[in-house]
Amino acid sequence: MNLKTFAGGLHPPDSKHYSANKPIERCPLPDELVIPPAQHIGAPAEICINVGDQVKKGQVIATAKGFVSVPVHASTSGMVVAIEPRLHPMGKPLPAVVIKPDGKDQWEDSLQQHDPDQLNADELKKLICAAGIVGMGGATFPAHVKLSPPEGKKIDTLILNGVECEPFLTADHRMMLEESERIIDGINILRKILGLETAIIGIEVNKPDAIEKLTRDCAPHGIQVQPLKVQYPQGAEKQLIDACTGRQVPTGGLPMDCGVVVQNVGTCAAISDTIRLGRPLVERVATVTGPGIREPKNLLIAIGTSLQHMLDQCGGLDGEPAKIIMGGPMMGQTQLSLQVPAIRGTSGLLIFREQDLPRKNFGPCIRCGRCVSVCPIHLQPTTIAAYARLDMIDEAENNNALDCIECGCCTYICPATLPLVQSIRHIKGSILAKRRKI
Ligand code: SF4
Ligand code: SF4
Repeated sequence: MNLKTFAGGLHPPDSKHYSANKPIERCPLPDELVIPPAQHIGAPAEICINVGDQVKKGQVIATAKGFVSVPVHASTSGMVVAIEPRLHPMGKPLPAVVIKPDGKDQWEDSLQQHDPDQLNADELKKLICAAGIVGMGGATFPAHVKLSPPEGKKIDTLILNGVECEPFLTADHRMMLEESERIIDGINILRKILGLETAIIGIEVNKPDAIEKLTRDCAPHGIQVQPLKVQYPQGAEKQLIDACTGRQVPTGGLPMDCGVVVQNVGTCAAISDTIRLGRPLVERVATVTGPGIREPKNLLIAIGTSLQHMLDQCGGLDGEPAKIIMGGPMMGQTQLSLQVPAIRGTSGLLIFREQDLPRKNFGPCIRCGRCVSVCPIHLQPTTIAAYARLDMIDEAENNNALDCIECGCCTYICPATLPLVQSIRHIKGSILAKRRKI
């Protein structure tokens, strides 16, 4: 079969066998939940409760600050025992609300159920914003912002991201198998908000059971399922749009510039819960996996659960950990501690032992061009990284460093094991800092 995909990228071993057949399991509540107000792209929410307060599940504990921001909610009922800096997945201590669960897991009384047919697009968007819904593939961009294109910007296609192209991760795969009804309901709500019919779910062919199930379940709703070639980073928005529609997002542009809105399948399920049940985003599915974990699983966790507690539900460590990653191995964030809390964008926890990591022998660039051939954005990674090492900010900017999506393909393929994406990430920070000063 001639499967659709995008130009560039690569196909690392997907290693999904550890957890692909493990049904989603609810993770018991830990002794404390650590909930930071900084969990999304945009302005962090502002804490609005005090130490000693009793809170209920779904109660707002931090309010949105501006349009590109969302509120944050208590993930269970209990008492606020501290508001203090705690180690954040970003790698530094940030303010957090610490809740001691009371064991009742009682929802806030004021949460209201709605019939989406009785609400207009603006009312639906307001509820999605108030529920703190963000992109759950890991990007954590507030969903209501994507659903609010500027006047005159015509959106004709909704693409649902069921690709899960990062190796090891299987949370979206299990969601598609076990929660198709909620996903489809969320898609129909999004279609109503955007006023469009065309909805396409992109799924890579290494998930044939999900393709089969969603093709069957989506048919009565007129939602297309698009099987895609297995290729990383197909889950990135621009690559997914290219693969599903052949449209190109312009340099520096957004999906809406080519008439498309992209949402993750997990986000769709959360939107259904928000509208139908009145439930804010207080839990998510995350894959706990890797050769360093005794019993890999897909866990439904309360936001704020520590990585250590998630690991404990999976039989603990199988050997000495050498690398802990939140998210996938290509774009995830390396963690220094298992005490870090899982947040809304936590799609997985990966643990590798020393023997699982590739041997690294750094060498000079041999001008092989492999980094250029795999770059899905068609950049010159070796050139930009060279400018980055010399701190030549303007030259890096002129070579479109800001377009880099930090997919890690160049680093992965480089035979000299040069830390290309790390250098490019660094120079991107310098370019943005320089722009802020001007
Ligand atoms: S330069 Fe950026 S976008 Fe291109 S392969 Fe490297 S990390 Fe990916
Ligand atoms: S892949 Fe590595 S060695 Fe080859 S051109 Fe790129 S930076 Fe140089």
